[in-house]
Amino acid sequence: MTASKRREPALAAIALFLDVDGTLLELAATPRAVSVPGDLREGLRGLSLASGGAVALVSGREIRDLDALFAPLTLPSAGLHGFEHRSASGVYHRRPLPSAAALEDARGAISHLARQHAGLLLEDKQFALALHYRDAPHLEEAVMKAMREIAARLTGELELQRGKMVVELRPAGATKAEAVAAFLAEAPFAGRLPIFIGDDLTDEPAFELVNRLDGASVVVNAKRASAARTRFADVTAVRGWLTQLQAEPAAALGQLPAFGHPASACHAPSPAAASGPRLRSRA
Ligand SMILES: [Mg+2]
Repeated sequence: MTASKRREPALAAIALFLDVDGTLLELAATPRAVSVPGDLREGLRGLSLASGGAVALVSGREIRDLDALFAPLTLPSAGLHGFEHRSASGVYHRRPLPSAAALEDARGAISHLARQHAGLLLEDKQFALALHYRDAPHLEEAVMKAMREIAARLTGELELQRGKMVVELRPAGATKAEAVAAFLAEAPFAGRLPIFIGDDLTDEPAFELVNRLDGASVVVNAKRASAARTRFADVTAVRGWLTQLQAEPAAALGQLPAFGHPASACHAPSPAAASGPRLRSRA
């Protein structure tokens, strides 16, 4: 994709919200093991320019982590599942912090758990703590039981968020739906039709919100029930669709039910997108 300063009419009508891990980037063994290909970074920059800045990242990572990953590109971003928010104009806002005592309690208990079992990895996100068990899937039940117990004694401060081979204690009350709603209340997102693409359970509230707003919800590589109305097969399909969105916006948007494509039918990709997205109709 090449960057364009020309505003594309079809892109001026949409607000694009993108989860990162499992959506734009392949999941890796550890959160630090991911990398952002140069063409993805340039593609996002081009889409942001062509849409008048209405492309945002909505992730479970911290915003500072997103900035480091995508540098030198900085996009409007929501981090820690909606706990923190940086608008298109660069204004940073976050919800009230969990208490230091609650975070220390959780940090201590999860560190202890991770030290006891090989294959468990604590990801300390400052205001959220994630325990990854990708290398020890047999421990899922024990991990969930321990994390539920920690969450139960920290009710109102931190709450459980399940993901793919990860369970997290994150600040209570923050959701990706709130993050998207906050963007849609401000320029340049306000008044546009939202599109949200994500892969995991934390993305479901955002799917439900954009459905209510008659926007487009897209789930990636999900073998579970989802509120999303369109499914993309994998990260490659997402990247292909984003490439097409810049090259032929009307054709790319036409594949989503919100833009006229029936949810029950499968769209044959145009010749230009033959190597791009692989769409599956909703199960
Ligand atoms: Mg994800």
